[in-house]
Amino acid sequence: MSEENIVPEEGKKSLNFIEAVVEKDLAEGMNDGRVQTRFPPEPNGYLHIGHAKAICLDFGIAREYGGVCNLRFDDTNPIKEDTEYVDAIMDDIQWLGYKWGNVYYASDYFQHLWDYATDLIKAGKAYIDEQTSEQIAQQKGTPTQAGVHSPFRDRPVEENLELFNKMNTGEIAEGQMVLRAKIDMANSNMHFRDPIIYRVIYTPHHRTGNTWKAYPMYDFAHGQSDYFEGVTHSLCTLEFEVHRPLYDWFIDELKHFRPEDGTYRPHQYEFNRLNLTYTVMSKRKLLQLVKENLVSGWDDPRMPTICGFRRRGYTPESIHKFIDRIGYTKCDGIIDHALLEHSIREDLNAKAKRVSAVLDPVKLVITNYPEGKTEMMEAVNNPEDESAGVHEIAFSRELYIEREDFMEDAPKKFFRMTPGREVRLKNAYIVKCTGVKKDEAGNISEIYAEYDPLTKSGMPESNRKVKGTLHWVSVAHCLTAEVRLYDRLFSVENPSEEKDLDFRNLLNPDSLKILTACKIEKELENAQPLENFQFQRIGYFNVDPDSKPEKLIFNRTVSLKDSWNKIKDKD
Ligand code: ATP
Ligand code: MG
Repeated sequence: MSEENIVPEEGKKSLNFIEAVVEKDLAEGMNDGRVQTRFPPEPNGYLHIGHAKAICLDFGIAREYGGVCNLRFDDTNPIKEDTEYVDAIMDDIQWLGYKWGNVYYASDYFQHLWDYATDLIKAGKAYIDEQTSEQIAQQKGTPTQAGVHSPFRDRPVEENLELFNKMNTGEIAEGQMVLRAKIDMANSNMHFRDPIIYRVIYTPHHRTGNTWKAYPMYDFAHGQSDYFEGVTHSLCTLEFEVHRPLYDWFIDELKHFRPEDGTYRPHQYEFNRLNLTYTVMSKRKLLQLVKENLVSGWDDPRMPTICGFRRRGYTPESIHKFIDRIGYTKCDGIIDHALLEHSIREDLNAKAKRVSAVLDPVKLVITNYPEGKTEMMEAVNNPEDESAGVHEIAFSRELYIEREDFMEDAPKKFFRMTPGREVRLKNAYIVKCTGVKKDEAGNISEIYAEYDPLTKSGMPESNRKVKGTLHWVSVAHCLTAEVRLYDRLFSVENPSEEKDLDFRNLLNPDSLKILTACKIEKELENAQPLENFQFQRIGYFNVDPDSKPEKLIFNRTVSLKDSWNKIKDKD
């Protein structure tokens, strides 16, 4: 199978290699022309952006070929699983815009799997091993050296059946015995060397409670669950490629016991997982960050979780665009975080309302503007979308501008505010700075300027050539808000590669900066949780769900600067 995209016939879009497989299978009438996929998360954490890649493929293929995608919780390890995660996973999939056919749980198949394991024992193809996991590991051999047979390998069937039953009745301690498939200790595929298929766990299960003590291992549960449900295309990430022969072996054996099922069988296909720079993509590590309060929760806007991106202001469309751009191949790699930022910037550029917010305010007094006067200026909501209309912003004698937009002894190329030069105040007038007031420490406390009444936005004189345009808000009409500025969570590009270091020591100490005295225009008074805005000249921001009318909180989704374009231009 080629990993290259297939060259399309004229007028057709190019197919990724999975779509090409599905089209071929359909053309050959495989599985009666049915397409059925599943998304199989283990409910042991929240979904991350890597899962979004799998979701878009599993649900996308079903949608594209008139099939169905079911949601299956792969809940075979009660130690790590919880219903909190089940609910969160469902929310995230729906937020991404997908609907599953049915919801299944691997735990629904515990009885079927047990029966199948019993059939294998009866057929002399599974045995109870009483060795420790260390002993079993030692006997496995290496890819070039055959393994050693367990002394329990030829245990009589009756004894195996009796012990297997005991594994489930509480008579056997955790770790005391396991059930192994009896396949081939010399096989070059290590997964065939008598894999463990059942172990004992006493922790109650989130759905089946204490009914079971013997639990199937992933390899024994996954393929069979696909089979019981009628999955045709079982899509997973590349690390499972080496498991595929075992997946097929278990299905072959199972079909011996169920000849009535005809020619149907599921097939596994593998694609490259998503890795992103400056973050980690492992639920275990993300859970650690949450448990140790290194972030504020699973939905901390710095987290690579789907709920983290949602809270940060990412839209489902931006995530879809990103996933489309990276595509599906057979080569693992790491994707530049800037590409994800590029996708949200592009989406919000088309959608977000433009407003004014001053993050680091300093007062600007227009000395020749009448005291007590207010003018309502017209501000375009989105220059990319005329239908978005306009809103009004109040202008008055005292304004706030960004501290960094002023410089006392400015070089020639400083096109912002400096004494003696003109600058435009967005949607208002052209003003000229006349001086400043400083406090005892020498810090600028007020800036003074004069406006030219003939340069009001829209008047002919307003077209006068002025290099800089600044945003501002009116002191008497603005609101105060908290603004949270996020940066990358880790300070190294690929934290997972630094094997010798604890990944927690690689966290970026400056990943969150909280500004509590930002000034925002009144238009934002009734902004709704998660609503997206562009703070002009600064970036895209959204309303944090914790925001309240008496304490407004905004998150920076992404800055305006597109570092991805720079990267692209370099190539
Ligand atoms: P993690 O390693 O983060 O704990 P996992 O693979 O154990 O993830 P599962 O809940 O088993 O998580 O994953 C459900 C599905 O999502 C699987 O089909 C898996 O292959 C896919 N998946 C997980 N991580 C990624 C990723 N980074 N990129 C693409 N698909 C992924
Ligand atoms: Mg997994």
